Amino acid sequence: MIKPFTPQLVYFEPKALDYPLGEKLMKKFKNMDMEIRYTTSHNQVRNLPGDNDFQKYRNAKSTLVVGIRKTLKFDTSKPSAEYAIPFATGCMGHCHYCYLQTTMGSKPYIRTYVNVEEIFDAAKNYMEERAPEFTRFEASCTSDIVGIDHLTHTLKDAIEFFGQSEYGKLRFVTKFHHVDHLLDAKHNGKTRFRFSINADYVIKYFEPGTSRLAQRIEAAGKVARAGYPLGFIVAPIYLHENWQEGYYHMFERLHDELPEDAKQDITFEFIQHRFTKPAKRVIEKNYPMTKLELDESKRRYKWGRYGIGKYIYKKEEEQEIKSELFKYMKEFFPNAALEYFT
Ligand code: SF4
Repeated sequence: MIKPFTPQLVYFEPKALDYPLGEKLMKKFKNMDMEIRYTTSHNQVRNLPGDNDFQKYRNAKSTLVVGIRKTLKFDTSKPSAEYAIPFATGCMGHCHYCYLQTTMGSKPYIRTYVNVEEIFDAAKNYMEERAPEFTRFEASCTSDIVGIDHLTHTLKDAIEFFGQSEYGKLRFVTKFHHVDHLLDAKHNGKTRFRFSINADYVIKYFEPGTSRLAQRIEAAGKVARAGYPLGFIVAPIYLHENWQEGYYHMFERLHDELPEDAKQDITFEFIQHRFTKPAKRVIEKNYPMTKLELDESKRRYKWGRYGIGKYIYKKEEEQEIKSELFKYMKEFFPNAALEYFT
């Protein structure tokens, strides 16, 4: 049973205490008797405990930094949203393949931003620029936001903020089942609540520190019954012994859990496993015992942006993955929309 995340160590930027959420978190962590330290900037947390990189990495992933988001210019987030909305950075999960390992480099600790109202104001400006078109905001580009929300309730506030907006929509994805506090949020159908799901094998070997498939599916059932539009990202789709059965079984269990009306408005995104050369180096350093297959000769090279190409499955394998998963999706969810396969 994966418990809700409790940090081992907490840092505060002193200015974070000028915000109600900063104050609330300080009180909460003091009551929990947590070790609290101060840092001048959430970008410069030094002296994390640990004798070597391996220990430091693990300690960082259980460290929470409470800070202020200074850059209120949002990144774009194609294809599934217009903008990434920055409520947090970093994640307590230990998925071996996670791209945050390369993007966060030497700062794998988790940061949460307390100037939530300022972030909402920036979102309002983006919505006004595009109105009367809808503007979609993705809240999980740089973290698993649900994984820390039981502490901050920032996501819950965001769901209600977009629920009241005229032209805004929110989306995020999670591998955690700690959703109970989000069930009564007034979402007004404006938030698409997505779960990242996978065959049991992939979750067991490559996603330590996250909720198991059965827990995610149960949570998806609760979320559906709370009236949220639902979505599922199947990623990374990974070839392993009996992978067809593993993925078939995943769709079957999902079908059995979800209420009928939720199945009418459901989206899927399929992403096959890929890696880059820099990512491979970081994965082998952080998770030296991983069983994750990272042999370039078994893959196909695809040119990428900034000259960093990725290794994806060979053409025939890619075709097989695509047709099998599409077949299962259609069998169990004939009305679902596949947003993309990549
Ligand atoms: Fe990365 Fe998501 Fe796993 Fe967190 S849950 S480690 S963000 S893949």
